Amino acid sequence: MTTHLVADRVHVRAPGKLNLFFEVGDVQADGYHDVASAYQAVSLYEDVWAEPSDDFTVSIAGAVDVSGVPADDRNLALRAARLLAKKTGHAGGVHLDIHKYVPVAGGMGGGSADAAAALVACDALWGTDVGTAELHRLGARLGADVPFALMGGTAIGTGRGDQLNPALAKGRFDWVLLPTDAGLSTPEVYAHLDRLRDQSGGGSAPREIGVRRTPEVDPGVLQALRAGDPVALAERVRNDLQTAALSLRPQLRDALELGDHSGALVGMVSGSGPTLAFLTADAESALELQVTLSAAGMTALHVHGPVAGARVMSM
Ligand code: ATP
Repeated sequence: MTTHLVADRVHVRAPGKLNLFFEVGDVQADGYHDVASAYQAVSLYEDVWAEPSDDFTVSIAGAVDVSGVPADDRNLALRAARLLAKKTGHAGGVHLDIHKYVPVAGGMGGGSADAAAALVACDALWGTDVGTAELHRLGARLGADVPFALMGGTAIGTGRGDQLNPALAKGRFDWVLLPTDAGLSTPEVYAHLDRLRDQSGGGSAPREIGVRRTPEVDPGVLQALRAGDPVALAERVRNDLQTAALSLRPQLRDALELGDHSGALVGMVSGSGPTLAFLTADAESALELQVTLSAAGMTALHVHGPVAGARVMSM
């Protein structure tokens, strides 16, 4: 495929995500777990600027601690750019300038958002125009959460979380986030969940040989989303990774309890953690909770969802 540069600089914005519901099934033969996830994209974004270059390079800055983000070929955004170039036969490279607002290794899919943004930015910069379906396929090769960062909104993910179907959500949901500087490794949290399940003689997943429970999203979650009802949603949220994340980071329990007693409808660990997400009744309640948590010396962010997936902002 021949490609041509269509811009000097492209700016793309991609959202972080929350898992409103996350059921983890048994570990599969390939080492991955089957999951059922209800994702919501929230108004905490990654900004990525792409500029033509002979090589593939990245610079990283942001409002969060970015010291744990690799600036070499391990960077997920750079891998995304290389993958698109290979797929399309684009001859040149790109310089990516990433501004991060999503906590690193925080369970909110920040790296996946960077990868999604890089795919959309390079596709626009290089004029490769591969189409949404191909971008999603490439995204899924980079990580289970990348297709959702492309899609945004609210969606159900099955398989590894990358087989997506949009879900109807009415109105907006207001969340207060409590990020933590020190991240948690997603593979470690899954491994810890497996250990806890083994110790408890099977936990929520049947262990009999040959029997595999296929995880699925509680229909009550979908109903609450359709109705735009945060109170009903609060009764149905679930995260199978929460026990493992809290066991690895017991100090999160105090913050969860404080949020729960300060007006949140419900508090939960976001994905593999350690970010905590509190669902509130409306924007006003979220503001009150944010003030209470800030007064207790914590960094609390008020965000809302659903918001759009990776989008070109300017070019
Ligand atoms: P996951 O999507 O696996 O649940 P997470 O949301 O908890 O992860 P991320 O911020 O996406 O956390 O990063 C996980 C790890 O991926 C980081 O510790 C980092 O080493 C690596 N990584 C690679 N590229 C990036 C990137 N562009 N931004 C952030 N982390 C990256």
